[in-house]
Amino acid sequence: MNLIPLPAFSDNYIWLLHHNGRALVVDPGDAQPVLDALTRLELVLDLILVTHHHMDHVGGVPALTAATGATVYGPAKDTMPPGVMAMGQGDEVSWQGADFQVIDIPGHTAGHIAFFGQPPGMTPVLFCGDTLFSGGCGRLFEGTPAQMLHSLDQLAALPGTTQVCCAHEYTLSNLKFARHIEPSNLDLSAYESHCQNLRAQGLPTLPSNLGLELKINPFLRSRQPSVRSSLQHCAPSPVDDADFFAALRLWKNDYR
Ligand SMILES: [Zn+2]
Ligand SMILES: [Zn+2]
Repeated sequence: MNLIPLPAFSDNYIWLLHHNGRALVVDPGDAQPVLDALTRLELVLDLILVTHHHMDHVGGVPALTAATGATVYGPAKDTMPPGVMAMGQGDEVSWQGADFQVIDIPGHTAGHIAFFGQPPGMTPVLFCGDTLFSGGCGRLFEGTPAQMLHSLDQLAALPGTTQVCCAHEYTLSNLKFARHIEPSNLDLSAYESHCQNLRAQGLPTLPSNLGLELKINPFLRSRQPSVRSSLQHCAPSPVDDADFFAALRLWKNDYR
């Protein structure tokens, strides 16, 4: 089983998983990078998984289904192109001996879902779209901070070895903010140097892994004293978990 990020647009990744000449892709905002990869690697596309309704995640779906006849699974609670099979919490998608569980993770959009599975011979993989990024999380376009915190808590409970397949290369800018929040986090500074080296070579920083994200991602660490002390001065003064998370997300929105 092979897992490859296909670059698309300026900073998207379309994740491609393939085995024995068969393939699945996740969030094909553009059909062309997928069609090129199918030709190059001599693959048949069986399946398309979609995490949410934004065009940079679904834009290539009609052209890909027309070209390949692939089956498409997407969120039941987001508006999808015609022909997409609706999935929600507790549903499963089986492909090539792997069962992918669907997890509802609203916040970035109202219907955002993730796919989590352990393909044979691989460490577990999580396709989390625009909800969890390396060192960050998605903007709250359609959900509340409490919803997003709950969604991230569900992802944080997955096995630490999980490969985190995010849909955007936002890592370096996320880590700059993370370092501002937790200047004394040594795991964070080591990871930032590692990612700077990768980007200098034109390589993706992804997939990340969940155990690492729990050590460095402030949005998974909003209950840690080191993160809370940075947020203490925010107005209005944060009181509960959702307040601290909201203050963190709000700060990141305007951070340059
Ligand atoms: Zn999005
Ligand atoms: Zn996106």
